[in-house]
Amino acid sequence: MRHPLKVRVPKTLAQQFKAIGYEPKDVTYLGLSHMHFDHIGNVGLFPASTLLMQDEEYEAAFGPDSAKYGNDPASYPTLKANPVTRLSGDHDVFGDGSVVIKRTAGHTPGHQSLFLKLPKTGNILLSGDLAHFSKNWKHRRVPSFNFDKEMSVKAMDDMAKFIKDNKATLWIQHDLEQNAKM
Ligand SMILES: [Zn+2]
Repeated sequence: MRHPLKVRVPKTLAQQFKAIGYEPKDVTYLGLSHMHFDHIGNVGLFPASTLLMQDEEYEAAFGPDSAKYGNDPASYPTLKANPVTRLSGDHDVFGDGSVVIKRTAGHTPGHQSLFLKLPKTGNILLSGDLAHFSKNWKHRRVPSFNFDKEMSVKAMDDMAKFIKDNKATLWIQHDLEQNAKM
């Protein structure tokens, strides 16, 4: 699959790293929500970082049926050589609850979202494509291209409870209206 859409940001990721005094090689772990083209930009900057990926997503990324899941391995050619820790559920990255991968399968077979405890901003959940827009989240609408509708709704219900229990805010990464307010 080839994507005619080009996504541009005003500052590249490499420039953003430089601005805060780091280099991509300083990154130990690389956690991707899933492998769709608009979520894997810049992965080539991190050839030595350890991938943290759900088992099913790894298969969907590199297995024979990758196209079926909307993936194009040509868009992440270096990734297969990365060291990898395959997950089958939630994962507390540093063991202190500050960065936790939440398994939210449904959009793709092993989709994951990211919970962060930030000292200034507070607790947030980065959606990935758990939901694409606030309205979809509110009404539990599942796009037709999702891997599994029932799993998608369950993931949203589970995360709604998780967000409430942890007094977190959901950041829906595709929602321009919400992003504009941040
Ligand atoms: Zn996606």
